[in-house]
Amino acid sequence: MSPLRKPKDLRHYPRQQGLCGPVLFVPPGVKPDDVTDDMILPGSNIVLGPYAGDAKIKDVDFVRSSNRPKDCPKDDRPEFAMLGRSNVGKSSLINFLVRKKEVALTSKKPGKTQLINHFLVNKSWYIVDLPGYGFANAPESARMDWSSFTKGYFLNRETLVSVLLLIDGSVPPQKIDLDCANWLGRNNISMTFVFTKCDKMKGGKGRRPDENIRNFLELIKENYQQHPPWIMTSSVTGLGRDELLLHMSQLRNYWNNE
Ligand code: GDP
Repeated sequence: MSPLRKPKDLRHYPRQQGLCGPVLFVPPGVKPDDVTDDMILPGSNIVLGPYAGDAKIKDVDFVRSSNRPKDCPKDDRPEFAMLGRSNVGKSSLINFLVRKKEVALTSKKPGKTQLINHFLVNKSWYIVDLPGYGFANAPESARMDWSSFTKGYFLNRETLVSVLLLIDGSVPPQKIDLDCANWLGRNNISMTFVFTKCDKMKGGKGRRPDENIRNFLELIKENYQQHPPWIMTSSVTGLGRDELLLHMSQLRNYWNNE
């Protein structure tokens, strides 16, 4: 164990957090027995390991919109794909991560051409904006298109480090999100649940984000042998930004070293 890390008893972690149970995401390079409280990123189940670092975004360039998975960039740089229901806050999250207004230009209208947008960060890795799913008013044919189009990307993209599946933390679990999480799980696609709109802590008709998140994680847990990492964010308050970038850095650096 690193001398910088104080050993602490983690058995009380779930109760202290009031969130979802004892399952932490322990990244490569960390032994589960060595995990201490101060290694867990706030508002998440993610343990920070030795691969974390270089989490700052210095520049971001739009590279290309592709309408077929095979048209995507072929330069072997690692990438993270952002996926979520329409209106989940995906454009806001991308803009908030890169701290630029209107980087994410994905068309939001159902039935429009579906595009995979690649943004190159620090000239070394990609954020990929995928079409949103679950348009309330979309015709069945548009939904089917989404499915075959995006599934082709997931199953064939060798440089995909992790899917960031965005889930609205301000509403109770939605079937379409659970279906998507379960499909990714069944296909062994690496993923992180990014709960959005976690500033909406009070008021409204719904439950609080921590209850919504706990319920969501409870509903999907049977489909995962290893519990995926999850993190709370808000593009309004800035919650989770640095933590999410650190998490992405450790996955990416590990990927680069493999
Ligand atoms: P997209 O369709 O997934 O790209 O969603 P947008 O980023 O366009 O956001 C959809 C709506 O949710 C907009 O009205 C945003 O202002 C709002 N929104 C996005 N992120 C947040 C957030 O973190 N907190 C709150 N309260 N609202 C948000």
